[in-house]
Amino acid sequence: MKVYNSLTMKKEEFKPITYGEILMYNCGPTVYDYVHIGNLRSFFMADIIRRTFEYIGYRVKQVMNITDVGHLVSDGDSGNDKMTKALKRHDLDITLENMLNVGNIYTKAFKEDLKKLNIKIPDYLPKASENIKEDIEMIKILEEKGYTYKTSDGIYFDTKKMKSYGKLGGLNLDEETQSRVCTNNEKKFHADFALWKFDKKNGWNSPWGNGFPGWHIECSGMSKKYLGETIDIHTGGYDLKSVHHNNEIAQSECSSGKTFVNYWIHGEFLNINGEKLSKSKGGNITIKTLEEKNFSPLDLRYLYLQSHYRSKMDFSWEILESAKNGLSKLRKKILKLKTNRSEEYIEFKEKIKVFISDDFNTPMLLAELHKLLDDKNIGISKKNWCIEEADKILGLDLINSKSKEIKIPDNIKILLSERKMARENKDWIRSDEIRDEILKYGFKLSDVNGEQIIEK
Ligand code: AMP
Ligand code: ZN
Repeated sequence: MKVYNSLTMKKEEFKPITYGEILMYNCGPTVYDYVHIGNLRSFFMADIIRRTFEYIGYRVKQVMNITDVGHLVSDGDSGNDKMTKALKRHDLDITLENMLNVGNIYTKAFKEDLKKLNIKIPDYLPKASENIKEDIEMIKILEEKGYTYKTSDGIYFDTKKMKSYGKLGGLNLDEETQSRVCTNNEKKFHADFALWKFDKKNGWNSPWGNGFPGWHIECSGMSKKYLGETIDIHTGGYDLKSVHHNNEIAQSECSSGKTFVNYWIHGEFLNINGEKLSKSKGGNITIKTLEEKNFSPLDLRYLYLQSHYRSKMDFSWEILESAKNGLSKLRKKILKLKTNRSEEYIEFKEKIKVFISDDFNTPMLLAELHKLLDDKNIGISKKNWCIEEADKILGLDLINSKSKEIKIPDNIKILLSERKMARENKDWIRSDEIRDEILKYGFKLSDVNGEQIIEK
């Protein structure tokens, strides 16, 4: 198994901490709105990683956090809290109770989206608001070890105290993070970040006064609670690498004295018009938007599968349309297989392993499945078996293409056989007439290699 590690910036041979087990943490959504298809790309990546390791025989313990408090608009501790923004949008008073209620609404919607995309639900989906004790404990340790200082608005991590701060992505603090405009004049250094933010009215009690944990400490706290001090894999989108993840490393490693994460995996962006899709830029395309335009969530999954997770993906409706066609073609090929028998085809399983264990190469796997289904020298029962195998990673519900095969009403069956005869007699006009008639009943017909394939 080879994995590209953002820490070493190399593809490395994967070595787990414990043989047969993977401890994986995924940075999850901030539930201040519906997740968009850019966010979902990063959760899809986590799903592929999980499915891959499960396929090659590991047990994966997976944690994805839900940030329902404490995420500021800017990673550099400036701007509004994202949840506060949501309350304003909903015209609600800024109270902790309202914050948690709004968070619950979007958390529920988020889980629905995961299901629709066939993303396996992680073993744990902890909420930041329910794990404040862990944050406080970690900040206390950091304080005891001399890594913190106090300003008028919170407790901060003193990055200059950690020699290796910024090791992820080879961060050059003097240049690269200058963009983190230091709006807080009391910070000793622009890269220092909040561990605890004071708030007299809302929030939780702590040894430093009432307030909220910083966004970064939440992930360190939850990762430690559910997975322990050192884990195998930590994921997130590219934008989290330089600030959020370097800060997580700082908190976790300075408090435990141990390596926090062995493999950092970052997913590239889903862009629109060459720019990262983001809510702030108005690019709020969600699963609901897709469904309103008559796309299925699995069309999106097929689109994701076509690109390697480390490649940028430019989204457009045309591209989604061609993914939809690609998936439909795949299903048609499967519907043509007229047996439920399945016969092992180990050579294909080996191929699956080769592709996915090369840094999760889903585009190659997808292409190989199409190739296999087009290969006339491979028997139907073997193909059936391979579809089932490939779908363990692809997650396109291909196995159900057949069981979900639509019940064809008797009148349509008669029309189909009439059309078959018309085609045998090369009566194309009648054939087209019947096709249009069938369409009126809500069924779409297409001819694939001489077979009439019907879709609802
Ligand atoms: P957030 O809800 O802002 O905390 O983001 C949740 C996850 O979505 C993070 O891992 C982000 O890196 C990721 N993400 C945000 N925008 C995009 C995008 N356009 N493409 C891919 N991943 C994204
Ligand atoms: Zn995180």
